[in-house]
Amino acid sequence: MAKRDFYEVLGVAKNASEDEIKKAYRKLAMKYHPDRNPDSKESEEKFKEVKEAYEMLTNPEKRDAYDRYGHAGVDPNMGGGGGFGGAGGFGDAFGDIFGDIFGGGRGRSSGPQVYRGADLRYNLEITLEQAAHGFDTTIRVPSWDKCDTCSGTGAKPGTSPVTCSTCAGHGQVRMQQGFFSIQQTCPKCHGTGKIIPEPCAACSGQGRIKRNKTLEVKIPVGIDNGMRIRSSGNGEPGTNGGPSGDLYVEIHIKPHAVFQREGDDLHCEMPISFAKAALGGEIEVPTLNGKVAFTVPEGTQSGKTFRLKGKGIKGVRSGFAGDLFCHVAVETPVKLTDKQKELLRDFEKSTTEGGAKHSPQTKTWRDKVKDFFE
Ligand SMILES: [Zn+2]
Ligand SMILES: [Zn+2]
Repeated sequence: MAKRDFYEVLGVAKNASEDEIKKAYRKLAMKYHPDRNPDSKESEEKFKEVKEAYEMLTNPEKRDAYDRYGHAGVDPNMGGGGGFGGAGGFGDAFGDIFGDIFGGGRGRSSGPQVYRGADLRYNLEITLEQAAHGFDTTIRVPSWDKCDTCSGTGAKPGTSPVTCSTCAGHGQVRMQQGFFSIQQTCPKCHGTGKIIPEPCAACSGQGRIKRNKTLEVKIPVGIDNGMRIRSSGNGEPGTNGGPSGDLYVEIHIKPHAVFQREGDDLHCEMPISFAKAALGGEIEVPTLNGKVAFTVPEGTQSGKTFRLKGKGIKGVRSGFAGDLFCHVAVETPVKLTDKQKELLRDFEKSTTEGGAKHSPQTKTWRDKVKDFFE
């Protein structure tokens, strides 16, 4: 279900004052309050919706982010496909209702520029087996904590940030260029609206400190090289209350000693002996799930490809298993003993006496050469 516009939910105008928002909220909260509508699922939903809209629009930072980016700017679950997140049940949603209504609210400023944090990319190298079977892993990624020394202000303890004089705290300046008036991010405060005269030494005035955190990543069955898994909100933090960026885990599959992957199919080279190729018989073929027996027919030529259906990789999108293609390479025997050589000479003599029927390829080739020279 698409999320309704917060202003529409409360029935107020986009430029509504905080008082108007509170008034509208109070009216609707009374109307849909669970005490007045016991057992009404619809009222409960409406109540939650109204409460969320109220919370967003009375928080100046969140209202700013919402005005700029819509729901994506304020809902950390938006990217993940979820609705209103949070594990809280009923009590969680209603606990502070009266505190919200009667407590003192903060005034809404025409505040500084809100920026979404940058996306991050993490390169994860995995084996072909891990890609084929899927697995859970943990990765260490950067995260940012509020600086304890300055409580996140970025100012040296005992000092505080001051309003930027260039933009009067708006974070934006107007430049006149010919006929046009262009709004630009303030070059002095870089959009924050504040100047820190004495930066905190612990965080260099950033207000936050980079640390590492462990993140669990689920690698789905069949993931392929170059695919990316998004971890919503685990990128760099936003500026001035803007939403965090996302973290992308990019998959790199290491080359495999036996198999080459092509989409969901696998290919492997399968050396077999000269006698096995001639006589036919059972061979063991490797797959990602262990060895399987396979019967090569009599008279198998080098270069012949056998297809083992369903022995490839289960596609991450299709959900169907690909095939395994075995490319036969007939191996010429080496380091023969005198006895073996003798046997082969006898063998060669007997096939030559048998005529062209034992080696149709050689005959065809000879005919071509003959045609070419005559
Ligand atoms: Zn600090
Ligand atoms: Zn400024």
